[in-house]
Amino acid sequence: MSLIKSITAREILDSRGFPTIETDVTLKSGAKGRGSVPSGASTGSFEAVELRDGGNRFSGKGVLGAVENVNKLIAPRLLGLDASRQSHIDSILIDLDGTGNKSKLGANAILSVSLAICRAAACYFEMPLYRYISGIMGQCRLPRPMMNVLNGGVHADNKVDIQEFMIVPAKEESFIRYLEICTNIYHDLKKSLKSRGLNSNVGDEGGVAPNLSSTREALDIIMQSIENAGYIPGVDVNLALDVAASELFRDGQYHLDETTKGTCDMLKYYEDLVKNYPIISIEDPLAEEDWDGFTKITALLGQDIQIVGDDLFVTNGGRLLKGIDNRAANAILIKPNQIGTLTETLSSVSLAQRNGFRVVISHRSGETCDSTISDLAVAVSAEYIKTGAPARGERVEKYNQLLRIEEELTTPLKTSNDKCSR
Ligand code: PGA
Ligand code: ZN
Repeated sequence: MSLIKSITAREILDSRGFPTIETDVTLKSGAKGRGSVPSGASTGSFEAVELRDGGNRFSGKGVLGAVENVNKLIAPRLLGLDASRQSHIDSILIDLDGTGNKSKLGANAILSVSLAICRAAACYFEMPLYRYISGIMGQCRLPRPMMNVLNGGVHADNKVDIQEFMIVPAKEESFIRYLEICTNIYHDLKKSLKSRGLNSNVGDEGGVAPNLSSTREALDIIMQSIENAGYIPGVDVNLALDVAASELFRDGQYHLDETTKGTCDMLKYYEDLVKNYPIISIEDPLAEEDWDGFTKITALLGQDIQIVGDDLFVTNGGRLLKGIDNRAANAILIKPNQIGTLTETLSSVSLAQRNGFRVVISHRSGETCDSTISDLAVAVSAEYIKTGAPARGERVEKYNQLLRIEEELTTPLKTSNDKCSR
């Protein structure tokens, strides 16, 4: 049996240079698994709690408390248990924490263990991670990238209010072809910014972060880059936005493009954008508690485009159920660290899929090189993955893992020799 022999956590750095937690699990068989946890900047208020130390060390962002929770409280409880009983182990973690939002042990501490256990079990069974998560007979399908090429909002030091401008290949292709199309456009975008004397340095998720003055200016530059790269907007490549509107909501109003808007003005604004640009998906178009606004925008645009709840649902089954009942969206963003265990993540995915919601698996703006989300996206046959631009190693690693998986799935005899990836 795949019995757990040791669990050890440590503090490492994420892609923004802030501490995060990494946990190693070793089984009695010698199989090993490692899990690390990303961190958001535009976090939803209803996310599970990321435990930080406070104080002066690392500007208060240290995670030594979370590390100690794994080493001293979680490890002794799990040693000797069977790592292949993922949902049983996750329920022990949830009970050990005992709070509704994982604020005692920290969702970061809990998730690092949950992911490391899963990897160790996959290693024990000598299975690729995506195959292990999906179950042996489960269907595995590669997602389509929603590639963030231009960053704004809290992910960049510029005046662009919308957080993420993404490009999405319009036709079904191989994953390598998706990447080729998107990277061609990304490179052209950098070139055209330079030729206009604009900054082409990148933001947290690897997209460019030029100082543009409006949403439309950003969209126009991307449209131009799609054409320059030889593609037809709306035919070969579509657009997607993550507005992260909770960040724009202050004093009962949305502050966007140097104007102040109520929910109705926002709806008109989006209706107009969708008429003028090939936008197929808008994430968090309204603030996390504007349920009524979400229901209205889904009624208005949801027949034609995807309305994605990120801060709205925070990967939480309870909030998703409310969204399903209220028809508040037609897709969910899935971020394992918003909820804190793999089992709860999978159950939110399953709830979404059973109710006809599309699934977008997502990274965070502060990432590590852990590529579990790539395997997860394939394991649940998610429609989309959102993992930034083809720049910055921690983003590219997710894309490269999808290329490895594609190779395996299209060459059945070829199996990865890196099943026990740490
Ligand atoms: P975050 O941004 O990781 O900073 O929350 C990603 C997103 O909002 O989708
Ligand atoms: Zn988002």
